[in-house]
Amino acid sequence: MNPASDLIKKHFSEYYRRKGAEAPKDMEKREFGFGNDKKIDYRHYSFKVEDELKNYLVNNAPLYASFSSAYYEYPSAQPMTKKNILGADLIFEFDAECKHNNLACPECLEKAKRDTIRLIEDFLVPDFGFDKKDISVSFSGSRGYHVYVVNDAVKQLSGEARRQLVDYLQAKNLDVKSIIRRGATLSSKGWSGRLAKAAYEHVKSSDQKKFAEKEDVLKKMSEGNYDLFMGAHSFWDKTLNEQVIHLSSAIDQSVTIDLSRLIRLPSTLHGGSSLLCQYVDNLDKYNPFSDAVVFYNPPMKIKLTKDVSELVLREETFGPFIHGQETSLPEYAALYLICKEAALPA
Ligand SMILES: [Zn+2]
Repeated sequence: MNPASDLIKKHFSEYYRRKGAEAPKDMEKREFGFGNDKKIDYRHYSFKVEDELKNYLVNNAPLYASFSSAYYEYPSAQPMTKKNILGADLIFEFDAECKHNNLACPECLEKAKRDTIRLIEDFLVPDFGFDKKDISVSFSGSRGYHVYVVNDAVKQLSGEARRQLVDYLQAKNLDVKSIIRRGATLSSKGWSGRLAKAAYEHVKSSDQKKFAEKEDVLKKMSEGNYDLFMGAHSFWDKTLNEQVIHLSSAIDQSVTIDLSRLIRLPSTLHGGSSLLCQYVDNLDKYNPFSDAVVFYNPPMKIKLTKDVSELVLREETFGPFIHGQETSLPEYAALYLICKEAALPA
């Protein structure tokens, strides 16, 4: 557990007292789980009304709060089979694995955001035919974004059907050759069209000798003749790698496939960052390092417990700091470093 968890909980409790929390859709059918040490230390909770949830958060101030994508007849029943599942929202998770040694890495979160937008614009809407009004996105409060598809048809998808959606996004078992041979064109739907466009653009932007009769080749391609690309394995490998949705880790995929998973509850604070997990309306303009920062400005004294490179919160730059350094920072920046286990109250 975070050695400063008492201080964090005090601030979280005050936050929930002021702001409350938002009940998810059909709250009384959802299972809730909470954690201080791990993401989930306790689960099988349920709440009937928003105030009950708020009171729980004010009184217990858990560092992590999650809810089920599934709807249950008896959400607090144990074991899981006694809950009687009624359906589940379809969820996708994008987490940024930061390798930049940056405690507030805009680059990695920006990448997660681009992946999120690509999932929606390139797959969920055109290929799966989901309605944009049924799709929402939240910032997880830490390293990434969640995408939710909520409607009655999706609710009934089995775990196996969800696995097939994930396989499709990742182009698993996609037979490129037979797609091309069957005459994919620029206007084909789904992967056929995506592959056709990639090859077409490749020729169009190329000045290599083998495309000397470029106009001719492009014309053929637009008619669905991709003979030139039949054996171009490395080109297709590269194209697929660029275009699949990388739900890289097994954990990210299980969020989509495993109906019993709990996911971070929007409107709650993330104990590993002090940032707010929240629904995002305009993903393009969203900046988690400003928009999800909820604490205040009064100075708080901290002592660094590791070296920390420069970080930007609310468009203000802090640090770099060195291990052992004592400093005074606005509460929101101090809490961020404390939640990241990079500092302790001094
Ligand atoms: Zn990074």
